[in-house]
Amino acid sequence: MDLTNLEKALKGEPDFRLKQIKRAIFKDLVNDWDKIMVLPLTLRQKLNQELSLEIKAEVFTSNDNKTIKALIDLKDGLKTETVLMRYSDRNTACLSSMVGCPLACEFCATGKMGFKRNLTIGEIIEQVLFFNRFLKNENQKVNSIVFMGMGEPFLNYDNVLGAIRILNDEDYFNIGARHISISTVGIIEGIEKLAKESLQVNLAISLHAPNEELRSKIMPINKKYPLIEVLRTVEDYMKATHRKIMFEYVMIKDVNDSLENANELAILLSGLKSSIFMVNLISYNPTGIFKASSSERIKNFKAVLEKSNIEVVQRYKFGVSIKAACGQLASGNQ
Ligand code: SF4
Repeated sequence: MDLTNLEKALKGEPDFRLKQIKRAIFKDLVNDWDKIMVLPLTLRQKLNQELSLEIKAEVFTSNDNKTIKALIDLKDGLKTETVLMRYSDRNTACLSSMVGCPLACEFCATGKMGFKRNLTIGEIIEQVLFFNRFLKNENQKVNSIVFMGMGEPFLNYDNVLGAIRILNDEDYFNIGARHISISTVGIIEGIEKLAKESLQVNLAISLHAPNEELRSKIMPINKKYPLIEVLRTVEDYMKATHRKIMFEYVMIKDVNDSLENANELAILLSGLKSSIFMVNLISYNPTGIFKASSSERIKNFKAVLEKSNIEVVQRYKFGVSIKAACGQLASGNQ
């Protein structure tokens, strides 16, 4: 759904047409121009030719029905993956911002497939539109968003922010900014820019290691944006926005999950000037490279952080059976 093309196609039409169309597509979730009966026949025929409302995708559902992965066909033949996580109180869409990713984190299947291209604003919001259509029969919709799918959102900053404004807009998806989270490896320019936006979105930082050496080993981007500089920028962000930060830490067996690592992380984070943050310990999902930490190991790691009065949460594992969990998105383009 290319919104720029929509505005072009409506050139010469009265202003209220766009309003009628927005309502039909984003609220009533109509997927065929011929069903939008308030539009004149000639306009429907024109739109049918110029702008398809169809979203082609292959859908995978996890054994427990809580995770749905959609492999969406893009116009140029590439595919993007997007995941719906169904909690008891909300439907969260995990969106991709790129096809592939240039950052090559060692533990991530997306990183292994390399970078294909950035997604457009239309291709980002299409992922949410797809799931809203999917949920329509149950009278439900997507009500929270995380940018944790394929790609580094801050390397596609303008399109990600453009998509967020549409997701937030009450004429489109009406998803509150506080229900939208962006996860970054720590692209400093992106964090600085976000601090200046008038948007109350949440920011998560993928930390995954408590020191420069280990982080550079598993996340090559650390050589360009060292941990210490990322944390300095995060401190400035917290000071400027007073928004809580989430530090993501994926637990990988014998790589970053020892008690020494936990102590080092506790010291590192306790040294931050602001304490408005929490740590999210994520179970590693197999991508054939490393192994996941045992639950015992995660429990001990968590206890060390909590002893230092650091707030810790543990993310529920979604979608491992359909390769839809964190770090597993890649299958469609390999
Ligand atoms: S973890 Fe994120 S930033 Fe790293 S390679 Fe995977 S998609 Fe890219």
